[in-house]
Amino acid sequence: MIKPDLPDNFIVAIDGPAGSGKSTLAKRLAEKIDGVMIDTGAMYRAVTAKALDLNIDPADEKAVGKIAESIAIQFNKEGQARKIMVDGADFTARIRDNDVNESVSKVAVYPAVRRRMVALQRKMGGKGRIVMEGRDIGSNVFPDARFKFFLVADEQVRARRRMLEMSQAGIEVSLKQVMENIKTRDKTDSERKDAPLVKPPGAVEIDTGHLNIDEVLARMIQFLVSGGGQAA
Ligand code: C5P
Repeated sequence: MIKPDLPDNFIVAIDGPAGSGKSTLAKRLAEKIDGVMIDTGAMYRAVTAKALDLNIDPADEKAVGKIAESIAIQFNKEGQARKIMVDGADFTARIRDNDVNESVSKVAVYPAVRRRMVALQRKMGGKGRIVMEGRDIGSNVFPDARFKFFLVADEQVRARRRMLEMSQAGIEVSLKQVMENIKTRDKTDSERKDAPLVKPPGAVEIDTGHLNIDEVLARMIQFLVSGGGQAA
């Protein structure tokens, strides 16, 4: 932990495409700096899972928007395990299911969904040492974040990582399926009008395909200790 060298309140924004290593790095970085990690992708997944469980068609923008407006999302830490609670129920495993993977990027396009998720994220990031990861954190949710990272990696590397994560969670999918899902999501995420996936101005880009986790972490910490790129 490097707590004494850093202030008590700041935001680290970590953005990048699917499988670029954001969650792993955000989790490790938050542990190192005694901060709080917020996985914003899990929030869009929560809305998607809730809609699917209520038999709402993900294409029904109005109905999905209504879900997003009233949903209660909470991140709980129980020992080393992180849980996501949705309207009081444990959705930690549910949000990683394949039907959620298939629909989440379509749901994340809806302005009503984004509006509510961004409002919740700004509230969650209001105080403390926050490590928030997603697609639009440094560009839209916290454009004045003091530290911004943009993680990238080759498509093959990202697909292999995602497949491994899924098989560890007991979900069996082929590399081809994962690859197709990643490609489709990246395209939808990059082409949407409202807060698309972009490299935010001032972000430090790191290719995680050629470095191991500790090497990426070391670069991130070096940037934090150096004071980062912005005043906020
Ligand atoms: O990071 P993860 O793969 O869990 O994100 C799932 C999806 O949620 C992304 O593909 C994207 O469509 C959406 N998302 C988003 N904005 C964020 C985080 C995730 O649109 N800040």
